[in-house]
Amino acid sequence: EAKLQRMPKPRPLVGKVALVTGGAGGIGAATAEKFLSEGACVVLADIDAEALASCESEFADQFGADLVRAIRCDVTNETSVAAAFAFAAREFGGLDILVANAGIASSAPLEETTVALWRKNYDVLAEGYFLTSRAAFPLMKLQKNGSIIFIGSKNALAATPNASAYASAKAASLHLARCLALEGAEHGIRVNVVNPDAVIRGSKIWDGDWRKERAGAYGIDPGEALETHYRNRSLLKRSVLPEDIAEAVYFLSSEASSKSTGNVINVDAGNAQA
Ligand code: NAD
Repeated sequence: EAKLQRMPKPRPLVGKVALVTGGAGGIGAATAEKFLSEGACVVLADIDAEALASCESEFADQFGADLVRAIRCDVTNETSVAAAFAFAAREFGGLDILVANAGIASSAPLEETTVALWRKNYDVLAEGYFLTSRAAFPLMKLQKNGSIIFIGSKNALAATPNASAYASAKAASLHLARCLALEGAEHGIRVNVVNPDAVIRGSKIWDGDWRKERAGAYGIDPGEALETHYRNRSLLKRSVLPEDIAEAVYFLSSEASSKSTGNVINVDAGNAQA
């Protein structure tokens, strides 16, 4: 009896090494999971030691301990960043993909925005992206190949009520990506940005004050109404999930996007306004 033999699905990231900052959070962990399922070796770098340990053991069980490493890293700290990249190079022999994703979201109307709040957003979302890119460049130059993906935000493109610190820091990192695309091109380093709109389910950002702040800014209930608000303002009337962001990041990390650099993919279920 003839049996249909299916070829195993090729896994385009086999042999590739990826470092994901904020890899123990919603979007970061979903991206790490996608990379692992496509065969990559992944280093999770996150400031939250507890979440990091549980993600690492979950992924090791699912994909094999030889493909996953975790390191506590504060992306705002130069020494900590240097140690994480040295760790990735030592453990897996190089670096092909950086996902600069570690983030916080905290904001207030202008007159209530303290210098500390302003700096917190810029430290993580602008300086953190600068420091991690700067650490990735020499490793990628060595192999004349690399893909850096910034997780930005739709707030970098659209003016956002009562979130000027967060939104403008995201805009700064968007432009940083374009500048780095220019600098990286001759070395085979591509730099692109994925801008999510609100990813409420699975994100720790939305467990905190951000939810109340956003609901307040739009004058709606911070519960289910908030999710409905974002869904309804999208053209497709669908919520954006961490997995949706991971798919776009995966595309930009792989050879399928080899002719894209300095570009932006918005994952927002469509938004005619921005
Ligand atoms: P999350 O809170 O679930 O994950 C963020 C992770 O970053 C956490 O694990 C946290 O511990 C880590 N982190 C925070 N500060 C860090 C630091 N200094 N060093 C290292 N790690 C640090 O949030 P998320 O929704 O997955 O957010 C990921 C990225 O996506 C952020 O850059 C965020 O701004 C961006 N984003 C999120 C949304 C959304 O609606 N969730 C929308 C647009 C953009």
